[in-house]
Amino acid sequence: MSTETLDKTGTMDKVDLKTLISATADTIAAHADELTALDQAIGDGDHGLNMKRGFEAVRTEAEAFAAKPLPEALKAIGTKLVMTVGGASGPLFGTLFMALGKEISAEPDRASLTAAFGKAIEAVAARGKSQVGQKTMLDVLQPVHDALLQGKTGLEIADVADSAADATVPMKALRGRASFLGDRSIGHMDAGGRSVALLVRAVVESIEGQA
Ligand code: ADP
Ligand code: MG
Repeated sequence: MSTETLDKTGTMDKVDLKTLISATADTIAAHADELTALDQAIGDGDHGLNMKRGFEAVRTEAEAFAAKPLPEALKAIGTKLVMTVGGASGPLFGTLFMALGKEISAEPDRASLTAAFGKAIEAVAARGKSQVGQKTMLDVLQPVHDALLQGKTGLEIADVADSAADATVPMKALRGRASFLGDRSIGHMDAGGRSVALLVRAVVESIEGQA
């Protein structure tokens, strides 16, 4: 099947889900060492491997996922991520995709995509008992949602995500393993936030490439 996206003016472009899956798996694979290094600094150093394992597992079944309607595809991808990523981030990324699948329509416009993404972020926050400002993936997810609401273009949204990941550097971690370090978590980028920024840019570039 194909999913659909909108440019700033609301024009819909068909996007192949298989291409999106391979673009996300490619960026995670290309940055796995970087993600691991970030997690080594203030965690246990498994984030790159966790994400790579999960997104490669999704890639393996890309054909089957892409054959489903968008809501079912996203739920199946989320379930696969829960089963394969592991760590704290597996259930959280899994929840993000599963909740997005639950909330989204088969052919979303920008407004319904934005609303569904907002609900998915709420589901992650509930699952993680976390909120914005605690140096987690939420600190990148929320600004991306804000940028969607503000009508920013895809590439602007990808830049917002990068800046938001950068902005986790001076934060003190209050959730996840990094929180065990207290003030020593300050001065390093949150690995999960960096993953979100990578995924957002891959999705955007993939969509723009197909538009
Ligand atoms: P683990 O911490 O179990 O080793 P990972 O290294 O794969 O798991 O993932 C760590 C990332 O998960 C963090 O960088 C952070 O972004 C995210 N994270 C951890 N705990 C939470 C939480 N409670 N809420 C939101 N995100 C979280
Ligand atoms: Mg870790």
